[in-house]
Amino acid sequence: MTFEEIKEQNEQSIMHTYGRFPVALVSGHGVKAVDSEGKEYIDFTSGIGVNSLGYCDEKWVQAVAKQAAKLQHTSNLYYSPVQNELAQTLCGLMGFSRVFFGNSGAEANECAIKLARKYGTDTYGENHHHIVTLQNSFHGRTVTTLAATGQDGFHQYFTPFTPGFSYAKPEMGSIKESVNGNTCAVMIEMIQGEGGVVPLDPGFVKELGAFCKERDILLIVDEVQTGIGRTGKLFCFQNYGIQPDVVTSAKGLGGGLPIGACLCSERLKDVLGPGMHGSTFGGNPVVCAGALAVLDRVAKESFLEEVRQKGEYFKEKLSAMEGVESVRGMGLMLGAKLKNKTAKEAAQKCAENGLLVLTAKDLLRFLPPLVIDYPEIDAGLAILSKAIS
Ligand SMILES: *Cc1c(COP(=O)(O)O)cnc(C)c1O
Repeated sequence: MTFEEIKEQNEQSIMHTYGRFPVALVSGHGVKAVDSEGKEYIDFTSGIGVNSLGYCDEKWVQAVAKQAAKLQHTSNLYYSPVQNELAQTLCGLMGFSRVFFGNSGAEANECAIKLARKYGTDTYGENHHHIVTLQNSFHGRTVTTLAATGQDGFHQYFTPFTPGFSYAKPEMGSIKESVNGNTCAVMIEMIQGEGGVVPLDPGFVKELGAFCKERDILLIVDEVQTGIGRTGKLFCFQNYGIQPDVVTSAKGLGGGLPIGACLCSERLKDVLGPGMHGSTFGGNPVVCAGALAVLDRVAKESFLEEVRQKGEYFKEKLSAMEGVESVRGMGLMLGAKLKNKTAKEAAQKCAENGLLVLTAKDLLRFLPPLVIDYPEIDAGLAILSKAIS
């Protein structure tokens, strides 16, 4: 099928919610994707931070195929050893006590919001359900996670949104103004991804952690994009020396399969009880087998050290590039402001020349597979350099 035919079929059958590049991807291996015309691309996107191990990593494929051939799904009415193994691995690695599995980042955040509201109202009474998030944040596309998202552009069309959220600037003065007597949680991204690759200031994060502890306000960290090795630590909050009460994970966790996880500390382990939350597909065995293969590779200090080093290398080369004004981000989650081109134009040009990159606000955004090697970084950046000079 030609690209034009694929595009036409899409337009006749799929709701037009996405602005797409004129590219149809049909296969991939490692860092490279192949389109319907047989053209190859170096992929600096990982499907928005999802394909942690690149396309079709051998061990990941084996783990997934083996589980699919053994037991592809069972409801959560029954116990599942592979789900247990993933839960124990995730909790054990990070010192959390319990996890709830869903299917996406938005669902992981929904669970965190329910947990915080339940904790707040159980502990302090029925109105104790207010949550502070940050301006310019992104927490998902459900009606409640849109409400949690601190960007006016997302608060359209679908009114009424879930009440009970306020949006603070990333500074303590603004946090204190936004918090009231009924605040049960503050939810943050360590690096705002969709917001334009904006890392939080370490001083602010430390102070926020102490403030939340003192007031018994739960600190929820949305690590949907920053987690699972993306920034050179298993979770990005480890770069900041804080201990959140609740952490959410999704994108990179399944290595290409849909999963969301909401992890909580020991004192929150019994807040959600039987019948209070659930998901048909949550913790699906095939997905859990894929996630275990990802963690088996990524959750090793030597692997994470490599991510940090490759990130530094990537950042340095990017910063030195003609046409790049500034670079920000951590590990292999980087954003570049350009001098003479819009991010959209540049991303378009890159795709034409065989490189896939993302945008975030007015920045180019890079989330390459964590397994990318140095020659692949060089090859991708050479295409980028030509596209923006
Ligand atoms: C992508 C993202 C989400 C939403 O994840 P979905 O899997 O698309 O629901 C939530 N929070 C952050 C920080 C994200 O980057």
